[in-house]
Amino acid sequence: MFQAWDVHKSFGHVEVLKGIDMSVERGEVVCLLGPSGSGKSTFLRCINHLEKFDRGEMWVGGQRVGYRPHGDKLKELNEREVAQRRSGIGMVFQGFNLFGHRTALENVMEGPVVVRREKRAVAEQRARDLLGRVGLADRVDNYPSQLSGGQQQRVAIARALAMQPDLMLFDEPTSALDPELVGDVLAVMRQLAEDGMTMIVVTHELGFAREVADRVYFMDGGVVVESGPPSEVLERPREARTQAFLSKVL
Ligand code: ATP
Ligand code: MG
Repeated sequence: MFQAWDVHKSFGHVEVLKGIDMSVERGEVVCLLGPSGSGKSTFLRCINHLEKFDRGEMWVGGQRVGYRPHGDKLKELNEREVAQRRSGIGMVFQGFNLFGHRTALENVMEGPVVVRREKRAVAEQRARDLLGRVGLADRVDNYPSQLSGGQQQRVAIARALAMQPDLMLFDEPTSALDPELVGDVLAVMRQLAEDGMTMIVVTHELGFAREVADRVYFMDGGVVVESGPPSEVLERPREARTQAFLSKVL
């Protein structure tokens, strides 16, 4: 479903991704851990065409990130093609990024109606279903300012799901939340994983990683230091850098 080989990315003279390899099967959940500045967000942003990478290749569902075939060569995607690829990948960020002047329902309908040109009635029905699924059936008409951070983040998840993505990317979706609101968001993500969604999740929530991830990747300094099932990487890390990181997060 997702593969990355030897992905490199520099900002100016600073190389922040130094050859990342990753593979995620359909329906798998991969958690990405690592200290601040290790390149986790940059990697997710590259998958979703929010950054260009310099070297290596990535594939999402059989399509090459950033390029399409052109005869026997490759051609860089144009803006329209990038938008089309992005619409198949859901992304949820740390901040809530909702449209403040639109209700929860309107936020969730926006993508399908504007980008996909779906009929409003169809988009609205799916938006209501999705808001129900994230536990906000009674909040559809609320504006973001009338919702807690955790509720806003669940609207953001519903909004990403409304585009019926094949892959969901989460970049520290709970780290801006008050502690008592984290659980509801993680529960929604856990349910999504149980329903078979393919997910790459940057998180410091080790409990979530332990229980939900099929595999955990630990990144530091732009490289994957170690990866494997949570029972190995989290319980019996082989690398000193992983051990040091885990002892700080716990
Ligand atoms: P955090 O846990 O703090 O979110 P991260 O692992 O997500 O960290 P990134 O945000 O990917 O790390 O950043 C990796 C490195 O790339 C950092 O040194 C950062 O300063 C640098 N960086 C990120 N975006 C840019 C940019 N647009 N221009 C220049 N440098 C950048
Ligand atoms: Mg980050």
